[in-house]
Amino acid sequence: MHSLTLTKEQLQKMIAHVDSHAPLEACGLLAGRGSKIESVLMVTNQAQSPVRYVMDPIEQLRAFEWIDSNGLELIGIFHSHPTGPETVSPTDIAQAAYAVVQIILAPVDGSWHARGFWMEDGAYSEVALQVL
Ligand SMILES: [Zn+2]
Repeated sequence: MHSLTLTKEQLQKMIAHVDSHAPLEACGLLAGRGSKIESVLMVTNQAQSPVRYVMDPIEQLRAFEWIDSNGLELIGIFHSHPTGPETVSPTDIAQAAYAVVQIILAPVDGSWHARGFWMEDGAYSEVALQVL
């Protein structure tokens, strides 16, 4: 996948979620069709850590069920790096469990920036985020 399309409102929803949990990492799922995001689903970071996240398994399961029952697909996962980096971390690469785009939100000069990445075989490449 080379790009992912989302709306300004969806981006703001992710930013509000990660900002309200900083300095802890926050996370969530992105449901959609093809390369277009339709819904942003927040999930609790069970790890309650500033440097890693573990999605609450019950909330994750409920989110997967909601995605299925709405005829959507899981097309992305987002989480924050409140203290950086802007890119995926070695932990993210080691723990990548789903073949979906990973959006990382990190503060740059005082405001949250989002970047998309595709991870495969221990490496990653950037996925352009088209914000409409
Ligand atoms: Zn990470």
